[in-house]
Amino acid sequence: LRGDDEHLSSSDKEIEKALRPLSFDDFTGQKKIVENIKIYVLAARKRAESLDHVLLHGPPGLGKTTLSHIIANELGSSLKITSGPVLDKPSDLAGLLTNLDEGDVLFIDEIHRLNPIVEEYLYSAMEDFRIDIMLDSGPNARSVQISLHPFTLIGATTRSGLLTSPLRARFGINARLEYYDAKLLTDIVMRSAGILGTPIHEPAAFEIARRSRGTPRIANMLLRRTRDFAEIKGNGTIDLAIAKVALAALDVDENGLDEMDNRILSTIIHKFKGGPVGITTIATACGEEAETIEEVYEPFLIQEGYLKRTARGREATPLAYKHLNLNPDAGAST
Ligand code: ADP
Repeated sequence: LRGDDEHLSSSDKEIEKALRPLSFDDFTGQKKIVENIKIYVLAARKRAESLDHVLLHGPPGLGKTTLSHIIANELGSSLKITSGPVLDKPSDLAGLLTNLDEGDVLFIDEIHRLNPIVEEYLYSAMEDFRIDIMLDSGPNARSVQISLHPFTLIGATTRSGLLTSPLRARFGINARLEYYDAKLLTDIVMRSAGILGTPIHEPAAFEIARRSRGTPRIANMLLRRTRDFAEIKGNGTIDLAIAKVALAALDVDENGLDEMDNRILSTIIHKFKGGPVGITTIATACGEEAETIEEVYEPFLIQEGYLKRTARGREATPLAYKHLNLNPDAGAST
């Protein structure tokens, strides 16, 4: 239910592409960030300089990639996309950097997962637009300096805490994307339904929106699935009733928690007496990777007040007990 791009069928991918906003004006929400970046982009254009490097952080699906496409569009430059784990060797990075034209934007997703050696090369590239490449090894080793066209690096990360400080210090623009409220997500769902040509009632759009974990990618994914239900089980229009049927079928509960959210809460409560319990222990018990729990599930559960992070581990809050119809004082046996 995470709605990750890699889990999408090819038709879903096409749709996802069609739904992606292409300009600042199409991009809903994150108002403060967008207002600021708009100014930096205009200023860079006015001075005919490359935009300062940008670090975007926040949970998956909130629009980091989308915003990077928009920034490149609005700069009138092209965007090259890669990701931390893909850049295995310094030569991978050098190949990319030497192919950038003046003012181009290089997007590195999951930048916290860069190989430290590659990261080291990135420093001089970001700072002085040059890289020193080692040729040969042993006694013949020598380094050659290659100058690069000025470019803008946009780094995206779900875990800004894992970024090294030298890397973090090299970004002049730093923005943290927040979860979207239901009103903004309703606008996004209405816009997406319009692009898909699917008739939708506003209360249905709101219902999808408020159960989308504050995340546009999930809102769009729930819209696509609800549209399937409307076409097969209904008359093609997404109304509140069909939206509720679809959401129930997708295991999204009344509060918008999905199956894994609920499994995490119920595991902490039933198996670990409500916590505190360590993240790796939770992960093993839930059959999910610790990293995924930390990046995807936990931030939302914490923000919504179901989970607390303490020095000794994660704890279920009274709200979590209430959500699962349990009484915190009676322990897990209720
Ligand atoms: P991230 O890079 O943060 O994981 P993406 O930029 O890939 O997230 O966004 C996921 C999808 O959500 C995009 O395809 C886009 O259609 C939609 N989306 C994200 N942010 C917005 C927004 N502010 N307005 C409208 N749609 C958005």
